[in-house]
Amino acid sequence: MIIVMKLSATDAQVAAVVGLIRESGLKEHVSRGSELVIIGAMGDEDLLDASRFEILAGVERVTRIMKQYKIVSRDTHPAGSIIQIRGIPLGGKQIQVIGGPCSIETQAQMDEAAAGVAAAGCRLMRGGAFKPRTSPYAFQGLGVEGLEMFQTAARRHNLPIVTELMDVRMLDTFMEYDVDVIQIGARNMQNFDLLKEVGRVNKPIILKRGLSATINEWLMAAEYIAAGGNHNIIFCERGIRTFETAYRNVLDVTAIPVLKRETHLPVIVDPSHAGGKAWMVPALAQAAVAAGADGLLIEMHPNPAEAWCDADQALSPPQLNELITTLGAIAQAVGRCI
Ligand code: PEP
Ligand code: MN
Repeated sequence: MIIVMKLSATDAQVAAVVGLIRESGLKEHVSRGSELVIIGAMGDEDLLDASRFEILAGVERVTRIMKQYKIVSRDTHPAGSIIQIRGIPLGGKQIQVIGGPCSIETQAQMDEAAAGVAAAGCRLMRGGAFKPRTSPYAFQGLGVEGLEMFQTAARRHNLPIVTELMDVRMLDTFMEYDVDVIQIGARNMQNFDLLKEVGRVNKPIILKRGLSATINEWLMAAEYIAAGGNHNIIFCERGIRTFETAYRNVLDVTAIPVLKRETHLPVIVDPSHAGGKAWMVPALAQAAVAAGADGLLIEMHPNPAEAWCDADQALSPPQLNELITTLGAIAQAVGRCI
């Protein structure tokens, strides 16, 4: 931590800052320039509370040097992490596409969706049993019955399942149903109690970016999960809210290289909730792969027009199939495969 003193700071005020640094168990390094005094606190910065320095007389500003996220940071783990999901690697050379409907509706819909997902070449499947809906009157998901349908359909094609956990009280049920990847949705990115609980289980977590979350807040949310012991975290960029109203959200492509630099954990992209329209999905998915995404989370419905949720943005099985075909060349151009 660096403490910059005011031009008018007295020796006694400098001494008070030095005293607080020593009291906290760190050492000081005082630089006296012709005008300013700058004090460096040397040692474990976590032992210091910046606000205690900010209120001291004579202090102009306080700057932390170390990042607050540690386990998820690339500084502590320079090599990229590969997360194994029932033998399927996520984060390595191979890009994984997770396809499936927004919500689980019926057994027949899930059976058809699973067949389409597998035929398109996806190695994992998505589907929501617990849906975070803006309106309390909208379809909320089938709940546990949906998990049952999901497993029945997905297991037939040996597809690991990805599904959203909204309420910590359902975590034991998710474990019982052997959910392969737990998704934490955008609206729960900073539900810290939920993050702490999924930090204690041995299941990979997809952590979606909050609607208006900064990269730092997102990394800190992942750090909550990691701090509990679960380091199998996958970031998912799903578009952020801006002034633009021409599409559902703005896919923040810039977040992909920034996150890949900041964290060793895999980064995937959800082009469906970003664009909000099926016709936008291929372009956004292609951009994500070109920008270095490790995977994609794409909504696909056997009959998009009939979908109970997010019908506008669902690809049909042939559209998903075609998209994956086009992604091959882009993946290859950036040294990946699909
Ligand atoms: C979803 O993936 O179905 C979903 C609700 O996404 P988000 O949390 O990104 O809105
Ligand atoms: Mn959806």
